[in-house]
Amino acid sequence: MNLRHVLGSGLLGFVLGAFAVASLQNAAAVRRGNAAVEKSPVAGASDGATTPAESPAATSGHVPVPAPSRSTVTNAAPPAGTPSPADAERELQARDLLIPVQGVNASQLTRSFTDARTGHEHDAIDILAPRNTPVLAVEDGTIAKLFVSKLGGNTIYQFDPSQRFCYYYAHLERYADGLKEGQSVRRGQIIGYVGTSGNAPPETPHLHFAISILNPDHHWWEGTAIDPYDALAR
Ligand SMILES: [Zn+2]
Repeated sequence: MNLRHVLGSGLLGFVLGAFAVASLQNAAAVRRGNAAVEKSPVAGASDGATTPAESPAATSGHVPVPAPSRSTVTNAAPPAGTPSPADAERELQARDLLIPVQGVNASQLTRSFTDARTGHEHDAIDILAPRNTPVLAVEDGTIAKLFVSKLGGNTIYQFDPSQRFCYYYAHLERYADGLKEGQSVRRGQIIGYVGTSGNAPPETPHLHFAISILNPDHHWWEGTAIDPYDALAR
């Protein structure tokens, strides 16, 4: 069976669902007059396959997309006081981040981050694995937020030790027992389990993993996404 085809088919349904969910969510937010509550997780999540912005990429069925060029990444204006995406990528590549799904090695990763210039925006990497495969912290850090959203499902926002980067894990089947906000975690610690919560296709369990550069105010829901692929696939 062709895995890519399966993922592509799943994502098509995924996308249609994402549009429906996004529309419902926006409508609900407007009705309550409390858009900020709904907007925060969506903006912070960059929850691949969950925002209308990423739909064109997903519709194409995860066909390999051109890697964002260095010049494109560099041209993105970072908030004052934070590393540029290019600097951040270099820094993280030197950190020996762990692939966050137990048993998955670098050769199994595929780049699925696309830049906004092409109109495609996933801003993350999808790592396929059987349901309930342990999800591991990519490095030491702090659990900044455990957030359950309609799109990302059970999600974890982990800050790195410098509090300048945020690691985002989505579509978890469940959290590790006892995991709490504010808790320190170690590289390789089990923090959750692969699943299909949120709008992941039920037949395609995977971890949606993203890295963002935090703004100076350290809001878990805000940041500049950078491609996790090069930091993981070494
Ligand atoms: Zn994704």
